[in-house]
Amino acid sequence: MRSLWSDTEANNFSGDAALRVYSSRLLGADSSLVLHGGGNTSVKLRMPNALGEDEEILLVKGSGWDLATIEEAGFAPVRLPHLKRLAALESLSDTQMMNELRTQTTRLGAPAPSVEALLHAILPYKFIDHTHADAVITLTNSTDGRSRIEEVYGDVAVIIPYVMPGFPLARLCAERFTKDSGPQTIGMVLMNHGIFSFGETARESYERMISLVDRAEKYLKRKNAWEVQWDAPRQPAGKAYSELPKLRRAISDAAGFPVIVRRRSDDRSLGFAQREDLDVIATRGPATPDHVLRTKRLPMIGRDVQKYVDEYRDYFGRNGGSATGKVMVDPAPRVVLDPTLGLCAVGKSSADAEVVADIYSHTMEIIRRATALGTYTALPERELFDVEYWDLEQAKLAKAGEAKVFSGEIAVITGAASGIGRASVDSFLRRGAAVVGLDLNPTISTRRQRPEFTGIQCDITSEQDVADGLERTVNNYGGLDMLVLNAGIFPASRPIAELAPEEWAKVMRINLDANLTLLRLAYPLLKLSPRGGRVVIVGSRNVAAPGPGAAAYSASKAGLNQLARVAALEWGADRIRVNSLHPHGVFDTGIWTDEVLNSRARMYGLTVEEYKTNNVLKTEITSHDVAELAAELCGPAFAKTTGSHIPVDGGSDRVI
Ligand code: ZN
Repeated sequence: MRSLWSDTEANNFSGDAALRVYSSRLLGADSSLVLHGGGNTSVKLRMPNALGEDEEILLVKGSGWDLATIEEAGFAPVRLPHLKRLAALESLSDTQMMNELRTQTTRLGAPAPSVEALLHAILPYKFIDHTHADAVITLTNSTDGRSRIEEVYGDVAVIIPYVMPGFPLARLCAERFTKDSGPQTIGMVLMNHGIFSFGETARESYERMISLVDRAEKYLKRKNAWEVQWDAPRQPAGKAYSELPKLRRAISDAAGFPVIVRRRSDDRSLGFAQREDLDVIATRGPATPDHVLRTKRLPMIGRDVQKYVDEYRDYFGRNGGSATGKVMVDPAPRVVLDPTLGLCAVGKSSADAEVVADIYSHTMEIIRRATALGTYTALPERELFDVEYWDLEQAKLAKAGEAKVFSGEIAVITGAASGIGRASVDSFLRRGAAVVGLDLNPTISTRRQRPEFTGIQCDITSEQDVADGLERTVNNYGGLDMLVLNAGIFPASRPIAELAPEEWAKVMRINLDANLTLLRLAYPLLKLSPRGGRVVIVGSRNVAAPGPGAAAYSASKAGLNQLARVAALEWGADRIRVNSLHPHGVFDTGIWTDEVLNSRARMYGLTVEEYKTNNVLKTEITSHDVAELAAELCGPAFAKTTGSHIPVDGGSDRVI
């Protein structure tokens, strides 16, 4: 462990509140200390109220904020004297506690204070830092954890046995702290949970955290349980395309909604998933109880989803779930360990699944090290159940709101770097889908760096490129639900008498043949889509109303149109819907170069402006208009529609 504190950087933060932000971010920057919203920090200070009086305030991390990116707005100011008095009560229900935290917060619009706010309030130090450091958890979660922690920390840290977070934990800490702390105390270890450090300055508290965690790391090194060799995979990873969509379908069916499955098949994940003792070491429980909300208590080993579901129901019943009127969450697994697939992380969105994958990657490390030390242990199932079904945590999940229409679903869009394709990427992302954009343009692969988008450079006329693109789609997200066939070319105007066979063949290859390949290779994936696959074909008004000089284009789009109709017929029994859009006059796309635009306008004896709005509604059609319709065609409004042909052209007097 190394302190990341820099005086130069710290100088940009003036005042205790700002320095609280700075050192919180330093903790957040190290994933071996805190992961995705885990951990919390606070500072106690005096702030003037509207009456001009100074009040003692606890500025504590708000829920929903991540330490790595926290700002001052991410801390909730709560009246400290009130919190101290609350912590002295005999009992306080969760609902009462949350009510008090909310009503004693002094800034309108502040986030809800951390459920650990009372604990921060009772510790008699200005700055408090709390992490779930991997090295400390490794010690607390191994056999003889308590005595190892005592050996490592002696009397510099107070040790607290595990209790439920919230009021009971704050009370227990207050009690133990009065008894066990002294001038030498710089921290506190919570068994099976994490570690606290404190200090009079932001730097002191932060650097004490680093030194406390460093002690745990050094202990593990001394015991040869730090740099533990990863197991090499005994067999290679399997292909995603042929295996993962079936697993995703089974998990989605068990969950009752479509899920994203993110796969990690690197040597470490694969080697771990192939360990012979997997059903012993991976079935004891999560590293810390709050992980249970992301990963569930246990991973699924292998692919028997029904067995996992049955066992989850048993666990819910065994712990008195229904007897206490609790509502069971979906029984589907969130982590899958499979000898050929590796680690598969399941989530309602790709961001969710990514969090699960990160948490489990750290868990594998903790399990391996604790196993090297002795035996990995976790909390008893009842304690984990209590956290999983803790009202405060379930309330947080409920607050997350209704899922977006394409939440958990995956779309592939061709020609995604520009025009209608690019606009479609936005329309599908906005509706919550994970999107893979294919395009010949290499810049596609560096766009929008976020878990829910993958840009792949792909020549759709190459079967190998298409197969590789779909393999990556499945690897990243688990399957395919929606396919938007948009890529196409519109060559310069050319009369039939002058049309060279090579030009004709090129247009056919891109606008027609490539789409056959895409449909053929996507079919096995679309068939496994939890809600039924959907295909949107971007056709053209030229199908119904061709123009002179556009023979190759019009013929290719007419061919594509027939292909779509046959696909709708053949795939209906597989619940795959195939619908076509027929745009016209979309001038903000790549194919409408000035040259093409001018020559088409001339052909009809119009100015470019007249040509752009030359439709019944006298309106201009944009890529966004077409993209929105493409997305809607995949949504519930068109759930009972297949084989349809919808114009998006402002109305055409040649077609109506
Ligand atoms: Zn914690």
